Amino acid sequence: MHRTSSASIMSFYRFSSSISLSFRSSLLHQSAVNVNVPSSQRLIRQKPNIGLADAILPIEKTLSQKLKSNGHSVSNVSSMLKGRNVQGYTCDLFEQKQSRILQIDEFEIIPWSVSGIETSVAVRCGGQGAVCIGFDMGYSEKEIIHAQNIFISHGHMDHVAGVAHHAKKRAIYGLPPATYFAPEDLVEPLKEIGRQYDKMHGKETLLSNLDIRPFNEGDKVDIPGKRLVKAFRTTHRVQSQGYLVYEKVKRLRNDLKDLSSEDIKKRRDLGETVTEENYIPVIAYTGDTSIDTFLDPPHPDVLKARIMITECTYVGGPHGRDTQGRLLVDKAHERGHIHIQDIVNNHEVFKNIDSLLLIHFSGKYSSHFIGENVPKLLPNGLADKTYFCIPGHRE
Ligand SMILES: [Zn+2]
Ligand SMILES: [Zn+2]
Repeated sequence: MHRTSSASIMSFYRFSSSISLSFRSSLLHQSAVNVNVPSSQRLIRQKPNIGLADAILPIEKTLSQKLKSNGHSVSNVSSMLKGRNVQGYTCDLFEQKQSRILQIDEFEIIPWSVSGIETSVAVRCGGQGAVCIGFDMGYSEKEIIHAQNIFISHGHMDHVAGVAHHAKKRAIYGLPPATYFAPEDLVEPLKEIGRQYDKMHGKETLLSNLDIRPFNEGDKVDIPGKRLVKAFRTTHRVQSQGYLVYEKVKRLRNDLKDLSSEDIKKRRDLGETVTEENYIPVIAYTGDTSIDTFLDPPHPDVLKARIMITECTYVGGPHGRDTQGRLLVDKAHERGHIHIQDIVNNHEVFKNIDSLLLIHFSGKYSSHFIGENVPKLLPNGLADKTYFCIPGHRE
């Protein structure tokens, strides 16, 4: 069974009551009602379209209070917050990493994603201490530092801004340099960013020699743990690609499947290889994409992966409009993103997916708004297997 254990649901859910949220759709209503949020966050919740700058002050105040009680320097925190995403620091400072992990089977998924701000997803395969891989590098949060292989979907800043930082953090932690796989056109610009950091630093360091490798649609690479990663094309405003993670399993050769076990044993005893390697798609990560990637899949395995991690930038009903009066559904299509209505209207395409994790929600929606509205829109079969990663600082 792939289902999340009740313990991990609770831990995932518990985090939804504090600062950065990720939770299962079926628990959303309950979580929205029972959350025990700090009073400053309750104030924020009453503003429907609050911006990041507005959110900093009340959360900073909450942080200051908590840090004071822990003996930290409050002024340090305030200065850090001014230039940073609040979500990042709240997670770092309160070390809530255990509660923001979604466990499905042998995978621990740690999403970190707000549209236009930062997106990265760490996947630990086989539990803590096991192989960790990363998708995108908008921000180098704690868990993804351990990812030896990072797969970049496209060149928008919210997906690549953390590459040099990731390399630097790994060096500080004594970890070997990571390998970054990226669409060919991004390789030189990303390397140049590393060189420019070194220039500012005044000497050549590892950042001048980042291991960034061109990796295009159809390319594949073996990664530790008997797994393989393959790139597939996605549809976005710029060139973009997603990644499929396969598990390699040995199975009886197809041409022998009608033989009796005795006959198979005889052949094996005579030295014949009776098994062959099969590749099972276990995870698909799309990065930013429009729904077209699912309607016209570039690879048949995209819709067969057990776990699908994809974006849902816009939410709300089919007639929702932005402040300029434009239909959000149209806006999503123009910008190469997904609106929740795209998923609702095409829910059939996800029928073979066991678990769907939606990330990359626009920061203009409060988690309360998403939690109250999105689950109601999803048809039953889909709602039961859908998870959300929501930025808690919008509470
Ligand atoms: Zn993005
Ligand atoms: Zn993008």
